[in-house]
Amino acid sequence: MTPHSPEVWFLTGSQALYGPETLEQVAAQSTRVAQMLQQSGELPAQVVWKPVLLDAAAIRDVMLAANADPSCVGVIAWMHTFSPAKMWIAGLEALQKPLLHLHTQAEMELPWSTIDMDFMNLNQSAHGDREFGHIQSRVHVRRKTISGHVDDPHVRHRIAAWTRAALGVAELRNLRLARFGDNMRDVAVTEGDKVQAQIQFGVSVNTYGVNDLVAHVEAADTTSVQHLVNQYLDEYDVAAALRPGGDRHDALLYGARIEQGLRDFLGGGGFAAFTTNFEDLGGLKQLPGLAVQRLMADGYGFGAEGDWKTSVLVRACKAMAAGLPGGTSFMEDYTYHLVPGQQKILGAHMLEVCPSLTTGKQSLEIHPLAIGGREDPVRLRFTADPGAGVVIGLSDMGDRFRLTANVVEVVEPDEPLPALPVACAVWEPEPSLATSAEAWIMAGAPHHTVLTQALDREVIEDFADMVAAELLVIDRDTTVRSFEKELRWNAAYYRLAERL
Ligand code: MN
Repeated sequence: MTPHSPEVWFLTGSQALYGPETLEQVAAQSTRVAQMLQQSGELPAQVVWKPVLLDAAAIRDVMLAANADPSCVGVIAWMHTFSPAKMWIAGLEALQKPLLHLHTQAEMELPWSTIDMDFMNLNQSAHGDREFGHIQSRVHVRRKTISGHVDDPHVRHRIAAWTRAALGVAELRNLRLARFGDNMRDVAVTEGDKVQAQIQFGVSVNTYGVNDLVAHVEAADTTSVQHLVNQYLDEYDVAAALRPGGDRHDALLYGARIEQGLRDFLGGGGFAAFTTNFEDLGGLKQLPGLAVQRLMADGYGFGAEGDWKTSVLVRACKAMAAGLPGGTSFMEDYTYHLVPGQQKILGAHMLEVCPSLTTGKQSLEIHPLAIGGREDPVRLRFTADPGAGVVIGLSDMGDRFRLTANVVEVVEPDEPLPALPVACAVWEPEPSLATSAEAWIMAGAPHHTVLTQALDREVIEDFADMVAAELLVIDRDTTVRSFEKELRWNAAYYRLAERL
C-alpha cells in the first residue's frame, strides 16, 4: 500500500571546492526552494530537504537510504552549483526509486544592476544541471526533467504530476491482488503474464477459490451487515422493494452480506485489489454488484471477468488520484451513438461502475441479470459527472505491457436513460470517436479500462515511464496515419532498446 505519510526527498548537489561560506548559502537557498514546493500544498507528499551533497560517498548513502525508507516514494535532485557528475555514478546506479531532475534556480530574476562574480559563483545550475543531465543519460537513468522556477504554477503542476505517479509506483510495489476464480473462458485480452507483472510493477496476483469468499460471506457478522444496510438507507435513494418490509429486502441483506464478506476477506489478507468472474460464482447467490461498487469507491482496485490487469490499473490510478476531485472507475466501452457530429461512447458494465464518478445521488436498485445464472443482483445506478477525463487500458502484448490512454470529455447523456438498469458514463473521445476507436483497436488495447476524471495525461505519462511500460496516447493531435507509424516505431524500439 502507499505509505501513510509519503515523502519525496529533496537532494541538492554541490562540491566542497566552494568553501563553507558559499555552501551555507547553497543550503539556505535549497532549503527555501524545498519549502516553497512544500508550502504550495500541491504535492501529495511531504518534501523532505536533505543536507547538501558534496561527495560520492554521501550521494550513494542518501540513495541507499531512499531505497530503504518505505516512506520515500521518490527523489528530486537539483545541482544548485557545479557538482562534478562522476561523483553521482554510484548513487544513480544504486537508486531504485523514481527520480525527478529539477533544473531551477533560487531566484526567478537576475539582479542585472548588481550582478557580480559572487552571484555568478553561487547561481550556476545552468551548467551544473547540464553536467548532471549528462551523467544521467550516460548511466541510462529513467527520470523526469523539469526546468523552471518553483513559483511558476506550471512547474509546480508538473512536479505534482510526477509525485502522483511516484505514489502509484509505490502502491504497486507492495500491492496484493486477490482473484476470485480465473479469467472468463476464451477471452484473450484479460489474460497476461503475472510473473512479469510482479517483476515489472511489483504487484502480487493470486487466485482464490470463490468458495473461500463464500465462506466469509456466510460467516459475516449480522450486526455489521445490518450496519451496512443502514448506511445504504442513509446514503442512497433505495428502491421501495429493497427497503425494510419490501418484498426484495432479503436481496439487499444478501448484497450487504457480500460486501461484509469481501471486506473481511480482503482486509484480512491485506489485499487492495480483486477480480470476480460471473462464470465462477460458486455458492454466491448474486454476482457482486453493489459491494464491488462500494469497495471501488473506498479505493480498491477491481476488474471483472478475472481481469487482474485492469484491477491493478484501477488501484494504481486511485492511489495516484489521492485527494483530488473527480472519480476513477473500472469501465468498459459498451455502445455507441454514431450520429455524425454528435458521436459518443456510452461506457458501463454489467454492474460494476464506481460511484466516485458522480457527485449526485445514487439509486440502489434490483434488476434481473441475464448472465451468470444467479439471483437478481443489487446495484447502484447513476450517471457520471460531465468533465475532462482520461480512459486508460493495460494490455499484455506478449513481449511487453502496453498502456493506451485516450483523452476524453465526459458529457451528459443526450436524453435521460430511464430503462438502463446500470450506472454509466457517456463521453466524447479526442480527437473524434472514429479516430480514437481506430487507433485504440489498432493498438490492440483492451475493452476493459479505467476511466479517471481525477488524473491528467501527464501523471499517466510519468507513471508509464517509471514502470517502464509502453504508452500510446490518443489525443487531439492524433491521426490514424501518425498513430500507425508510432506503433511500427515502437515495435522496433521495444525490441532494440534496453535501459534507454
Ligand atoms: Mn466486461
